[in-house]
Amino acid sequence: LVSRMRTFGTTIFAEMSALAVQTGAINLGQGFPDTDGPAAMLDRAVQAIGAGANQYPPGPGVLELRQAVSEHRAAHYGLAYDPVGEIMVTVGATEAVAASVLALCEPGDEVIAFEPYYDSYAASIALAQARLVAVTLRPVDGRFTFDPDELRAAVTPRTRAILVNSPHNPTGTVFTRAELTVIAELCQEHGLIAITDEVYEHLTFDGVGHVPMATLPGMRERTVMISSAGKTFSVTGWKTGWVCAPPALVTAVQTVKQFLTFTAGAPWQLAVAYGLRHEMEWVAALGAGLQDKRDRLMEGLSAAGFSVLRPAGTYFVQTDIRPLGFSDGLELARRLPELAGVVAIPTQVFYDHPERGRHFVRFAFCKKDEVIDEAVTRLKRLS
Ligand code: PMP
Ligand code: GLN
Repeated sequence: LVSRMRTFGTTIFAEMSALAVQTGAINLGQGFPDTDGPAAMLDRAVQAIGAGANQYPPGPGVLELRQAVSEHRAAHYGLAYDPVGEIMVTVGATEAVAASVLALCEPGDEVIAFEPYYDSYAASIALAQARLVAVTLRPVDGRFTFDPDELRAAVTPRTRAILVNSPHNPTGTVFTRAELTVIAELCQEHGLIAITDEVYEHLTFDGVGHVPMATLPGMRERTVMISSAGKTFSVTGWKTGWVCAPPALVTAVQTVKQFLTFTAGAPWQLAVAYGLRHEMEWVAALGAGLQDKRDRLMEGLSAAGFSVLRPAGTYFVQTDIRPLGFSDGLELARRLPELAGVVAIPTQVFYDHPERGRHFVRFAFCKKDEVIDEAVTRLKRLS
């Protein structure tokens, strides 16, 4: 293995899901729903296979999906992207992030990301031989946010891009317009690109709306906007994502993408196009249901003795484990199957400064109510 990848090892998601399988523990670690996406959309994938959508689609993706993404961006955000030249389909948001970083960052360039960050960011940046500069999100009044001065201080002449994930995994923060404006102004002042990971765009709670960076003044032209179907339609195994950006940026990302995977799976693309056009009510109901599940898990975790932080979006809730007498989340996560028959994700692995997240553990609530309830019953053994 090349030296720049040697520190990465196995992802925490693989480690913890394997532990769940091995021990029979309830898996509130890796974020994937335990119920299926909209039935009519699933049928479309089957139909697509039956109808012969089984050969290579065009490199930038099936036109029908690019058109549906374009319509979705216009309808939800008032953003106009041309399906030809400004939208491309990827193998999930993961490939979109990797291809964007590889296409836009020279070796030695710096990319700012907010820690705790989704783990593929650091690996993609390392593959590009660029450098991740982490700006820490810290809880303020129970919500993770950043200090604008710390963000400003992180920009150097080598900074090329800021990776912005909102709604944010693993903290559940949804950046406000004010927070996005701080980032946007820095991008414009220093000529930076915003690479935005918006995979949880529809999973927000309490009436908090998702604001895409590209809708801020002056940002559409410098934003690589990324999303995917996995979270929106509860089909994380379909690995169908997309990039929306001005032509020069999409061309750059497409140039890299064609040699990573050339194209993405055909049947899923047709089905997701259907989903974006016909299943957005289903998605709204999913979001409302997830809010109830969030509340259910938060209440249970509090009763079990955790200090719980309220997320405004995503699948995840952060807990502080210190009230239970624990101090190291990684240690606790590795013992949790044996102590309580539950698997969770230690938040510290998503930091460049792990000590800043040592006492946080992430639990996923994208699960059936009875699964959440049983997990809570078990976790009450901890206190
Ligand atoms: N970004 C974030 C913030 C995520 O949580 C995930 C995991 N679902 C991804 C990207 C990966 O998305 P995909 O499965 O579409 O590659
Ligand atoms: N995005 C999901 C999570 O954060 C799963 C990611 C993965 O398995 N790579 O839990």
